[in-house]
Amino acid sequence: MNTHGEVATFETDQASCDGRERLIRAAVEKAHPNALRVALYQATADPALAAMPAERKPFWGGTYYQVMLADGDVEVLRRKALDYLLSNPAATNELPSDVVLRRYMEIFNGGVVDDFTFAMGKEELSFEDFPRGVDWESEPSQNAKAAFHVIIIGAGAAGLAAAVQLDRLGVPYTVVERNAGVGGTWWTNDYPDSRVDIVSHNYQLSFMRNYPWQHYFATQPELKAYFQMIAETYDLLDRIRFNTELVEAQWDEETASWHTRLRHADGTEQTLVGQVLISAAGLFNQPNLPDIAGIESFKGRIFHTTAWDHSYNPAGKRVGLIGVGSTGAQLVPALARSAAALSVFQRSPQWVGKRDGYRDRVDAEVQWLFDNMPYYWNWYCFALFHTMFDIEGLQTYDRAWQAAGGFVSERNDLLRENLKEYVGAKVGHRPDLARHLIPDFPPLAKRLIADNGWYDALLRPNVELVTEGIERITPSGILTRDGCHRDFDLIVLCAGFRTNAYLWPVRYEGRNDQTLEQAWEKDGARAYLGMTVPNFPNLFIVYGPNAQARAGGLMAWLEIWVRYAVKSIAMMIENGVRSMDCRPEIYEDYNKRLDHTLEECIWGGAKSYYVNEHGRQNTNMPWHPRDYYNWVRKPNFDDYRLR
Ligand SMILES: Cc1cc2nc3c(=O)[nH]c(=O)nc-3n(C[C@H](O)[C@H](O)[C@H](O)COP(=O)(O)OP(=O)(O)OC[C@H]3O[C@@H](n4cnc5c(N)ncnc54)[C@H](O)[C@@H]3O)c2cc1C
Repeated sequence: MNTHGEVATFETDQASCDGRERLIRAAVEKAHPNALRVALYQATADPALAAMPAERKPFWGGTYYQVMLADGDVEVLRRKALDYLLSNPAATNELPSDVVLRRYMEIFNGGVVDDFTFAMGKEELSFEDFPRGVDWESEPSQNAKAAFHVIIIGAGAAGLAAAVQLDRLGVPYTVVERNAGVGGTWWTNDYPDSRVDIVSHNYQLSFMRNYPWQHYFATQPELKAYFQMIAETYDLLDRIRFNTELVEAQWDEETASWHTRLRHADGTEQTLVGQVLISAAGLFNQPNLPDIAGIESFKGRIFHTTAWDHSYNPAGKRVGLIGVGSTGAQLVPALARSAAALSVFQRSPQWVGKRDGYRDRVDAEVQWLFDNMPYYWNWYCFALFHTMFDIEGLQTYDRAWQAAGGFVSERNDLLRENLKEYVGAKVGHRPDLARHLIPDFPPLAKRLIADNGWYDALLRPNVELVTEGIERITPSGILTRDGCHRDFDLIVLCAGFRTNAYLWPVRYEGRNDQTLEQAWEKDGARAYLGMTVPNFPNLFIVYGPNAQARAGGLMAWLEIWVRYAVKSIAMMIENGVRSMDCRPEIYEDYNKRLDHTLEECIWGGAKSYYVNEHGRQNTNMPWHPRDYYNWVRKPNFDDYRLR
């Protein structure tokens, strides 16, 4: 019985139903209840659906929260959804008004929604064709548009999103891409078992609706195909110069343009002039090659995960793997399955946690529901977004909690306990191993790693965890500091990326002959809102310094940064503005506040790629994403010198 006294009947009559009904029943049963409820309400306006109480309930031992329905209501909901779907409903393409949409969100939320949730939630719902699209305020002439040429560096997700936006506006552009194809990270990182560790439906561009992901956590081939599909659908391929690297960019004040030097794969060079540069070069585009003595002397095979040699079969080989960050930990199970012996060299332990459905396929029933239940896909995406933003206290210190003996905050400490319990459940019977797998830093101080079978792999008889430091690499293997030498056929370097070397090795020379390197020499890369730097006019950095928001899917943020850049370009063209650069005083003030806010965040407490060589965390955004979203939703041109 549900909270209104109705008797649930969904589970009955299973035997008598036909194939179609069985499919719908299965689909409805697998649906996210609250997303299904709001979709059905949007389709039917059935007041009983709106009246079902929704409550914020903890999961993962209170670390995270999601809005749930009572079990009895779920049964009634399923019955109603089944009846509705059996009636072969037709979706309308009518866009709900903002007032109506807010009401739907409130039903989902079980209470008021704030302006941020409404604004970003509306984008995540993707009811519009281009939820983050930029439109002209007053469309300029073709000549005005043609006078502006934009150079986009990189054809990963961000570069493609920028190209699509400029295409819509009819602004000329060229994409410059070092690789031979699109997809960026997912073009390069094709090592075995490479996949995302956030849900695919939250790792997608908002203008491509209901993409049929095969996995809840998409694999690298799927992701590569996804970006290829986007490039083809929007006809971008002709505008991308592949196998071409930006080497240098120089600002010319007189012509208000960037003069770039491009190098092709065959070593030849050319110049290209553009009024605006959008650097969509990514955070993870320069592999970090570890500085280990003797590395060049190794006579076997050795490669970084970004340069996986698919012609080499590790089956039956002795393999050494160096580094257990996200990539190393993800790769270990695949190598463990085939190698004769695998030695995993770990400098320090990482928090590796369970991800529900990490290897699951999106089954046919669920995809059927996405395709056939009006609005369900939209509300499913909204549900993912909604859960992700409930982050209060996870990454910031609670000083009162600490004074009372806690580590970080109630929520972060809970997460730590849950993760410890998980490690215990996995390897607790092997205390010799378990003691090397519990980090001494708080979870989320480094990127939390998804368990891809990491613990199970470590328990295999052919796998060994080596925690002794590496002394050097020898011609035949690896010597550790305790004097132990291991022979290998293959050494895999999982040493990550030079994430703090923003935009490196490109030489950017702005106004007054100043280079970015000089502007950043004191303590590493900085940018206003993670995007712009004084004296580097018309340069927009996507995924720039301290821009990585504490919550939300990265694809959403890439689109938001791109929108900021494209809105700025549109403003310049519309108003005859030739250049814009951040006011130095705005930049200084922003960075002061940034440093101050960072003191309350947990990332400084661990050695990770978040922290640069000056000891400053310069990857993550310290403020709540709600604030950041409001600042970057549209540019405030008062923050800029316009010429
Ligand atoms: C193995 C791996 C797994 C990841 N998993 C996740 C995940 O699960 N979830 C998540 O949110 N993020 C993940 N990331 C982060 C990932 O990089 C982003 O999600 C996303 O791909 C960033 O897109 P982008 O377009 O900004 O950059 P990229 O995908 O890095 O694309 C940048 C492009 O710019 C090109 N480029 C760079 N410099 C130049 C130059 N000078 N000249 C010409 N071209 C240039 C590069 O070749 C590249 O194609 C992962 C990263 C890695 C490496």
